[in-house]
Amino acid sequence: MESPKTLQQAIQYFSDEQICIDAVAAMRWLDGPRCPDCQGDAAKSPYYLKTQKRWKCRSCRRQFSVKVNTIFEDSPIPLQKWLPALWLLISCKNGVSSWEIHRTLGVSQKSAWFMLHRLRLALKTGNVGKLGGPDTEVETDETFIGGRKKNMHKERALRYEQKGGPSGKIVVQGFLDRDLRQVRAKIVPNVKRETLQAEVLKEVKYGSKVYTDDAVAYNELRSRFVHEVVNKTVSYVDGRVHVNGMENFWSLLKRGLSGTYIAVEPFHLERYIDEQIFRYNNRATKDNPLNDSDRFMLALSQVSNKRITYKELTGKTDAAVSTTPEPF
Ligand SMILES: [Zn+2]
Repeated sequence: MESPKTLQQAIQYFSDEQICIDAVAAMRWLDGPRCPDCQGDAAKSPYYLKTQKRWKCRSCRRQFSVKVNTIFEDSPIPLQKWLPALWLLISCKNGVSSWEIHRTLGVSQKSAWFMLHRLRLALKTGNVGKLGGPDTEVETDETFIGGRKKNMHKERALRYEQKGGPSGKIVVQGFLDRDLRQVRAKIVPNVKRETLQAEVLKEVKYGSKVYTDDAVAYNELRSRFVHEVVNKTVSYVDGRVHVNGMENFWSLLKRGLSGTYIAVEPFHLERYIDEQIFRYNNRATKDNPLNDSDRFMLALSQVSNKRITYKELTGKTDAAVSTTPEPF
């Protein structure tokens, strides 16, 4: 069978455990399986124990499965469910809820919730180097996430306050490199000048053209960047000087947060942002016609060396979050 192009084909294709194992192994070990304990002898590949679907290291004799040191480690959920769940997550424009995973793949909603959080971790891409450069254009903008406190459950409102300050809104700052068509975004503690400018220095190369809105917070960027400001009260778009790209990203993020995910705990917000960044940065463009299958393979290549436990997810290691979040 050909590699899948649609969700339906993915569910069918990955119904075979061996096919799942081969797919994960191929994407995580580009030079063939390696022992996670001793790394083994590069010249001698480990044995594959067909009946147990595990490898055995020729050096230290330990056995290991394809799930070891990945987001799938220790999960009782078979890869036949994990891989279609990943397909769903990367292919749905506004994200996918745990209820949809539950209904589509027949896992409990609670398991689906946990799976989605682990899968989002796989979507997180490590940032390599700075954005921009001489003659390139970078938009930077910030947005506030968090509903009206009035409409929030008291405890949730409190958790938003703990992370976002008295307004209960969390600040997310973002950057868009127009040439690379890549977005980065992260939660920042506040909209103070020191905070926002420090991030620009961290993320953007000197000499870039940096476009911001007229927030006073950016008014000292001129020494290191060509800084152009959009004055929204006068004209919304002044030629190339605008932050519409970033605003487009915010609206996609918020559509997912308010539509599919309804009530995101502040503690989990970062992972939803990472999910949206993955989708945005790997969307199809004229020069780069990526499809779901490409996005799936890319995500699958990022499952290694990432783990999050249920304990961490339910906030028990975060002193600021004392109650169990309601899965949705
Ligand atoms: Zn070994």
